[in-house]
Amino acid sequence: MPSKTIGAILMILGILGLIYTLAMSGEQKSYVILLSIFIVVGLILIIVPKKHQPSTQAFRTVAPEPPPPAAVLSKPKEQIKKDCPSCSEKIILEARRCRFCGEIFDPETLKSQIEIGRAQQS
Ligand SMILES: [Zn+2]
Repeated sequence: MPSKTIGAILMILGILGLIYTLAMSGEQKSYVILLSIFIVVGLILIIVPKKHQPSTQAFRTVAPEPPPPAAVLSKPKEQIKKDCPSCSEKIILEARRCRFCGEIFDPETLKSQIEIGRAQQS
């Protein structure tokens, strides 16, 4: 029997008993104390297993997270800048056309420029 079910039963019995005892006018004070203990114990039994389960699940979800760094490291490489041979403005290494003067670069030279740029970065 799970402690949660026992806790729920204890709590229901405690509350019902407490209502009954109070309705019958407060002659049985020892019952009120006993039933209050029932409610408290029932509450603890319900709450405690609930607290333990999500914490173990949280540990499981935290563990497989590390991967991202690789994706973060690959980003700055796309921000390598070069000087446009035509207007000398700083443009992104991978650009096929200068955004300042409209100069179109030779795909072959661009390829080698990218390779050189990436080699310098790492
Ligand atoms: Zn240019």
